[in-house]
Amino acid sequence: MCGVFGIYGHPEAANLTYLGLHALQHRGQESAGIATSDGQQLGLHRGMGHVIDVFPTDQIARLKGQNAIGHVRYSTAGGSMLKNAQPIAVEYARGSIAIAHNGNLTNAETVKEQLEERGSIFQSTSDTEVIVHLVAISDQRTPEDRVADALAKVQGAYSLLCLTPNSMIAARDPMGLRPLCLGRIRGQHEAWVVASEPSSFDLIDAAYERDVEPGEIIVVDKDGLHSKKPFNPAPRHTCIFEFVYFARPDSNVDGVSVYEARKNLGRALAMEHPVEADVVIPVPDSGVPATIGYSEASKLPFELGLVRSHYIGRTFIEPQQSIRHFGVRLKLNPIGSTLRDKRVVVVDDSIVRGTTSRKIVKMLRDAGAKEVHMRISSPPTQWPCYYGIDTPTRGELIASSHSIEEINQYITSDSLAYLSLGAMKQAVVAARSDTAGRHPRSLPVIGQPLDTDAFCTACWTGEYPIAFTPQPKQRQMRLLDL
Ligand code: SF4
Repeated sequence: MCGVFGIYGHPEAANLTYLGLHALQHRGQESAGIATSDGQQLGLHRGMGHVIDVFPTDQIARLKGQNAIGHVRYSTAGGSMLKNAQPIAVEYARGSIAIAHNGNLTNAETVKEQLEERGSIFQSTSDTEVIVHLVAISDQRTPEDRVADALAKVQGAYSLLCLTPNSMIAARDPMGLRPLCLGRIRGQHEAWVVASEPSSFDLIDAAYERDVEPGEIIVVDKDGLHSKKPFNPAPRHTCIFEFVYFARPDSNVDGVSVYEARKNLGRALAMEHPVEADVVIPVPDSGVPATIGYSEASKLPFELGLVRSHYIGRTFIEPQQSIRHFGVRLKLNPIGSTLRDKRVVVVDDSIVRGTTSRKIVKMLRDAGAKEVHMRISSPPTQWPCYYGIDTPTRGELIASSHSIEEINQYITSDSLAYLSLGAMKQAVVAARSDTAGRHPRSLPVIGQPLDTDAFCTACWTGEYPIAFTPQPKQRQMRLLDL
């Protein structure tokens, strides 16, 4: 759960990266950072918190240069601390480099042990630092060949941006697990941009060009843009959870409109699991497009029955006396007039531990709902993700040890149903085949288009596309820089 953004060849590089990171804030809120280059030196600033807190105006003004990469982080490997914030920037024998990474390496601890045995010293517990060390010890000549050499030694998911004093390098893992796309600013200042999601291009008036292909390395330097594919091709495995929950609905991933995919998920859910009811409501915000689809297909009126507060900071003062549902009410509050004496269908994207769904059902009943029917726009989540999405351990996932009926009883809903795996894949693929004129943002992907076999679905099936060997336990940091 991270976002990356980079720009090459624009006098406002740091400012535009700041804006790009803003648009990617949903991908990570723990830390943010920007590295810039002016052709000779790299500049770097990182901090804990949201982009807006980490980068006051004077801080951005200090980041000089026409090239920049940035990162927003939600830790999935390594802890939440400043040392693990990205980009990671280093100076080594052959130059300097900054690296920003979205994804998770599955062999990071093994490679780290090997590197430490030959003398490497690690500053952080982040898996990304392994790539930095591999770049530094590579015997290749150019920065892009050193990056390719380093990536050939790691396994797992990565959408990566590197900045050297003279170039920006973008790389996507051979299976394409995490998204990465290419855009362009035209006009007075022509510049290339690369980002996790194209919704970040709109804010800076960049046009979406295409997705970075799985296994592709793109280099932008003074001679323009060059692309190569140095790795053995692998079957595409785009993370389907990006469409279900993670990516912004105004983004496209690998040629599929996230919004249309979510509406299709809702339509399919209504067809697979209809129920007699009076209204259908979303769990905001991610459940909204699927609920529109459910409403369309079921002919049930779409209503807002829950309102989400968008202004919750990282900390809040808990009341001295316990207030019912305090935590969940901070985020969601019911609209009584929509719910009173109604049979309500509630659409959500997933159930993780079940505790939030249980609180939501109780909240709706307390607000007067006569019946509450939960409908989930993906199958039961039974397996953790090892490729960069923060999910709890298998034991904490309620669907790994409980049947759907048991979960229904636990969350106290009148009925509970999940979308099937086949219907989920079909719904997402259909959002691509629909692109001709209906989704003007959708452009053809270069390379193999998405089909129903082109997804990672491991958190529902346990079929992990990248085999992982058990990793040595991550060592606890013994040096605490406080
Ligand atoms: S395990 Fe799930 S969340 Fe992780 S990459 Fe695969 S589909 Fe996405």
